[in-house]
Amino acid sequence: MEKIKIPGDWEDIQSVDIPFTFRVRSSQDGTFPYTVDLDSYDCNGACDCPDFKIRKEPLLARGVKLQLRCKHIRRAVAWFGEWSLRILSAEIERMAEKHRIKARSFGVRSADRERGTELGR
Ligand SMILES: [Zn+2]
Repeated sequence: MEKIKIPGDWEDIQSVDIPFTFRVRSSQDGTFPYTVDLDSYDCNGACDCPDFKIRKEPLLARGVKLQLRCKHIRRAVAWFGEWSLRILSAEIERMAEKHRIKARSFGVRSADRERGTELGR
């Protein structure tokens, strides 16, 4: 995943080199004992903490269709949402800029040009 700096207090989350996987700090001792995999169980996420393993995972394994997330999964989802928003926003800006340049150089219809402006906000 691309390394981008996200403002705010996210020192409790570490990304690792496996897609959708994070290490999450324990609120008890400040170490990073928990591994969260966000796309497990149809994107519910999975964690190796006791709360998830004992209370939540058995229900998911039986096919219960509920969102069953421990606090580590919820924290990783929040971080991932923030990260995704910034990646998507930058990509839309880039595409809008590219479209405007094309629209000017190739004389694309004005409706297409306006659409490009909307994308750029
Ligand atoms: Zn957990």
